[in-house]
Formats: sequence, C-alpha cells, structure tokens
Amino acid sequence: MATSKHDVVIVGGGAAGISTAASLLHRRPKLDIAIVEPAETHYYQPGWTLVGAGVFDRASTARPMQSVMPAGVAWIKRRVTEFAPGQNEVVLDNGDRAGYRMLVAAPGLKLDWDGIEGLRATLGKNGVTSNYNFDTAPYTWELVQNLRSGRAIFTQPAMPIKCAGAPQKAMYLSCDHWFRQGRIKDIQVEFDLVGLALFGVAAYVPALMEYVKKYGVALNFGTRLTKVDGPGRRAWFEVPKDGGAKEIVERSFDMIHVCPPQTAPDCVRKSPLANAAGWIEVNEQSLQHVRYPNVFALGDACSASNAKTAAAVRKQAPTVAVNLLRVLDGQTPEAAYDGYGSCPLTVERGKIVLAEFGYGGKLLPTFPKWLLEGTRPTSLAWFLKASVLPSVYWKLMLRGHEWLASPAIRTSAPVDAKPAVKGP
Ligand code: FAD
Repeated sequence: MATSKHDVVIVGGGAAGISTAASLLHRRPKLDIAIVEPAETHYYQPGWTLVGAGVFDRASTARPMQSVMPAGVAWIKRRVTEFAPGQNEVVLDNGDRAGYRMLVAAPGLKLDWDGIEGLRATLGKNGVTSNYNFDTAPYTWELVQNLRSGRAIFTQPAMPIKCAGAPQKAMYLSCDHWFRQGRIKDIQVEFDLVGLALFGVAAYVPALMEYVKKYGVALNFGTRLTKVDGPGRRAWFEVPKDGGAKEIVERSFDMIHVCPPQTAPDCVRKSPLANAAGWIEVNEQSLQHVRYPNVFALGDACSASNAKTAAAVRKQAPTVAVNLLRVLDGQTPEAAYDGYGSCPLTVERGKIVLAEFGYGGKLLPTFPKWLLEGTRPTSLAWFLKASVLPSVYWKLMLRGHEWLASPAIRTSAPVDAKPAVKGP
C-alpha cells in the first residue's frame, strides 16, 4: 500500500530527472510531481573533464540539490530500492512506497569501482586517478602537472559508458600540457581500451588520430584493466593473444587515469523494467517503456542506444514531457527522439572536435559547417564547452527552457502503439 501518491514520480534528481520535471511543469504548472533523490548535491559532470585539466574549479560543478529542484515539486529525500510497476509503486530505502499514475525512471548508471581489483583502495592516491569522480578529478591535474617523465596510462572499459569520449579527453588534455611543457618526449603515453576502435563514429577518428600521432600515444585495443596496485605502481591487463585467447600482462605506471566499468543501477537490473543487459527497456523514439505504458525512462539508465550524455538528456527530456502528458490524458505518444548525443572531444587546451550524432552514428550537427565543422578541431567548440554549455545546463536545461531541443512531433502516425493508461 503506497505511503504517498502522486500524478508523476520521477526517480533520480540528476540531469535527466530535474530537466524532465522542469519540462513537465513548463507545460502543466499544476502537475503533482515528486522526485525521489537521496543526494544533497547536484553535479554538472561534463565539467569534470575540465577540472582534471585545471581549467575549471571543481566547486563550479556542484550545487545544492535544493537549488535545482523546480518550484512546486515534492522532493522525497530517499533512495529507491525496488521498482514495482505492477502496483504502480516504487519502494524506498525506509520501506515506504511511493505510488504514481506515471513514472519517470532516471537514476543514472552505476560506476563499478569494485569491478577492478584494488582500485577503490588506491583511487585518489599513489598516482591513481579518475575524472569520473568529483573528489578525484582535481588529482588528475595535480598528477599531470607533477609528472616529468615515465609512463602514463589511460584506460577505457567496455561500452556503454557515460560520455564515451571522456577517457580519451583526459588523455589528450594531459598530453597537451606535457607537449606545451616540452616533456612529452620523456613520457610514454598508453591508451588501453576494451573496444576495437578509437571512437564509435568513424567520421571523428581521423582528427583524433592526428592527435594520437602528435602526442605519440600507444593505442592498445581489446585491452581490459583488471587490477591495480597503487603503492607498487603496477597494473594488470587482460590482453588478446593470437587465436582469440587472452592473457594477463603486468605494466608499471607513474600515473594511471581509470574510467571504471559501468552498469545499470542494482535496483534497475533486478527490476521488471530491465532488459537482458540490465537497462530500462524503452522504445527508442518515444522513450516509453515497452511493457509498462505508464513508465518512461531517459538518461544514462535507459536502454536507448544513443551516446549516454547530458546533451542527449537535453533532447530526451522534452520528448518524455510531451509523451508522458499525452499518455496521462489517454492518448498515444507523438514526440520522437532521434538519438541525438554529443561528445566534445577536448583534443588540446583551446580546441575541441565536437562530435554530434544520433542513432546509427548519423551525424547531427547543430551548427552549419561554415560556422563549426564538427569533424575538425575548432576553437569555437572549445568556447561553447568552456563558456556556454555550463550556463545552458544550469540556466536553461534544468529550468525547462528547451533551447535547440524542441521535441520532434510525428503528425502522421503515433510513434508507439501502446494504449493510454488510466491511473490506479
Ligand atoms: P545523473 O546525472 O548521473 O543523475 C542520476 C541521479 O539519480 C543522481 O542524482 C543520483 O543520486 C540519483 N539516483 C541514483 N540511484 C538512485 C536511486 N536508487 N533512487 C533515487 N535516486 C537515485 N555529457 C555531455 O553531454 N557532455 C560531456 O562533455 C560529458 N562529459 C562527461 C564527463 C565525465 C567525466 C562524466 C562522468 C560524465 C560526462 N557526461 C557528459 C555525461 C553526463 O554527465 C551524463 O550522461 C548525465 O549526467 C546523465 O544524466 P542522468 O540524470 O541520467 O544521470
């Protein structure tokens, strides 16, 4: 039996949860919405790459959660432990149950620090760092500044991960510093990645390869970090051998930047909402759940095959807002998300290759080519990332102002045939 009931319950007050609440209220100001979110702080995670390069101060990427909660929303400061879509309820960590007519599931993803043996114990010291963590991103910059010679390793786990370009962004910006300081010739740089391509969309690879060559980076494809010994400055990798077999090799390092393996959150993976891989199973266009029509999901936790980025959320949130309200009103979804995501690849301080693409790797540039050529490094893209996008995030996206993100409405046929639902 639900302890409280709302028209809409949103799980997660991250980029996706807050933007969706704001977009819903923008359309229907009196809607009864509750956001379930245990954290007191909201982070602008895209800023952490620049924290790790000494460009942003880490404090600028964090704000009190209360300050981003849209006015009129009920904030339930709890963690969801279980989804019960059959009962139209979520179970909270104190045993309470929150009931809903419509659910938006946006709890992000789980960074699996324990997926690499020894990592958690040494992260943030002994030359072991990660920009995937608010606390350790400044340590990346400290290590980069102090390294004068030796081996610097950058790792990337299996996809999907949030901001697939972030592991190599950390590498390029570190190399750029060593290049400018005249130290790069004394530093052996390695990029160890599980995948078999430098970047998932081929159009951006040539520009990236120019920087790989410039910095003298050794690319080790099909290579997975399995264990780290910080005090001993050693790391172990599973690497491919001829004939498809694998072997474990040990390497020493002076600094290592680790991107941890990533999965759907535990409460999602074990829930009826999950697909076989653990992600919340949605229709890729409407973002409506494929089995529970009164459930929508977006952001890193959903199964849609777009790049898991805040840029994707910027376009997903209005789509969910439109479709959710239609279903609440007894209609079918009509807005369609095209898979847009963006990855500003910071190849050097002051220049970015602005990857923007949708489903199937289709290039979806926001700006005309004459203004910003996305497949080449540009200063304009750096200006956008460092000076414009943080404000777009805090002042527009989280407040329901859908700048360059109007949902595409299909007028001919509904994007999803799921019948409308009546609430409990
Ligand atoms: P999050 O923003 O992570 O929010 C999830 C929220 O859910 C959190 O507040 C969490 O506390 C809450 N939560 C978790 N579990 C529960 C639960 N059980 N119950 C209730 N609440 C829960 N994106 C870009 O667009 N451009 C970039 O350049 C970029 N660079 C990045 C660099 C780094 C280093 C990182 C880490 C990310 C980067 N991203 C970038 C990705 C972007 O930050 C994420 O894709 C985006 O934040 C996803 O939004 P979300 O709401 O799904 O998840």
